[in-house]
Amino acid sequence: MSSSVPTRADVMSLPSYVPGRSVPGAIKLASNEVPEGPLPSVAEAIARAAGDVNRYPDMGAWALVDRLASDLGVPADQVAVGCGSVSLCQQFVQAVCEPGQEALFAWRSFEAYPIITRVANATPVTVPLDAGHRHDLDAMLAAITPATRLVFVCNPNNPTGTAVRRDQLTRFLDAVPDDVLVVLDEAYREFVTDPDVPDGLGFVRSHPNVAVLRTFSKAYGLAGLRVGYAVGPEEVIKAVRKVYVAFSVNSLAQTAALASLDAADELLARCSDIVRERGRVRDALVAAGYPVPETEANFVWLPLGERTTEFAEHALQHKVVVRPFAGEGARVTIGTPEQNDTFLEAARTFPARE
Ligand SMILES: *Cc1c(COP(=O)(O)O)cnc(C)c1O
Repeated sequence: MSSSVPTRADVMSLPSYVPGRSVPGAIKLASNEVPEGPLPSVAEAIARAAGDVNRYPDMGAWALVDRLASDLGVPADQVAVGCGSVSLCQQFVQAVCEPGQEALFAWRSFEAYPIITRVANATPVTVPLDAGHRHDLDAMLAAITPATRLVFVCNPNNPTGTAVRRDQLTRFLDAVPDDVLVVLDEAYREFVTDPDVPDGLGFVRSHPNVAVLRTFSKAYGLAGLRVGYAVGPEEVIKAVRKVYVAFSVNSLAQTAALASLDAADELLARCSDIVRERGRVRDALVAAGYPVPETEANFVWLPLGERTTEFAEHALQHKVVVRPFAGEGARVTIGTPEQNDTFLEAARTFPARE
């Protein structure tokens, strides 16, 4: 049956978000998840909360907001939670961009940015990464126009793993006009080990036009429950809360996030294992001839260009699912040592170009 209901032409032409594939029997290194399941304490909290799912969740997630505010040392008015930080990305655009105004970001960066920008009726403007797969902050500054309302800086950058350093970011933020919001997307913050990669919260304190995004999906291992948070200027956070889809952070997610904060030490200890493996995997790939940029996240970027799809197929024959970006490169999540060995074997046996 065909419908004559018109749909938004701009929405119909959007690319669909491509999630990492799950292939039965294969190792999934495609979505930057952590390899281990929830800690027993977190699983128990989720199970206990399951008894109350006939009730709506706390609409404002106040217990979680207050806990985050106190852990981070900021007023609760400066914290918002969302149904994953991807949802907060969209809320930020909705909160600050009038229709047609611009959201600026590097490319390639987080796949959701162009989609959520268009959904929010704003115009995406992209600035290519530099030759080292890093943000080109000078070019981004030059791309700011009177129509620019928001800039995303993904640090470390998904999918390349590269990170901007403190002095570069400080210079950039000092130069961005005061009426442009800069959202530092720090989904991978917990994996950062270089002390020169700044904690964005410092910039929230020093600059009244900076916000930070974090998530429980990556280091905290709650990707399936959907909860993230933002810290930013009070007025902007107020607007971000206005465009929140009512009750979208569910009660299991709220409970699990709180339990994860209680178990932060244990969860962050797991991150050190990932970081150790990240170094080993990158070294092995570089030794095998892949020009993998230095990464501060829980994944590596293989700039394979036209051979990307072929590489992903080869990896799959070795029972490893990677995340290919056709024509550009493959992003591969760091897994357990054993999983990484399987991936490295695939990478080493990928036939060299004639
Ligand atoms: C994974 C990711 C997110 C968000 O994930 P959620 O699961 O929605 O919290 C946000 N930004 C970047 C850059 C990511 O890679």
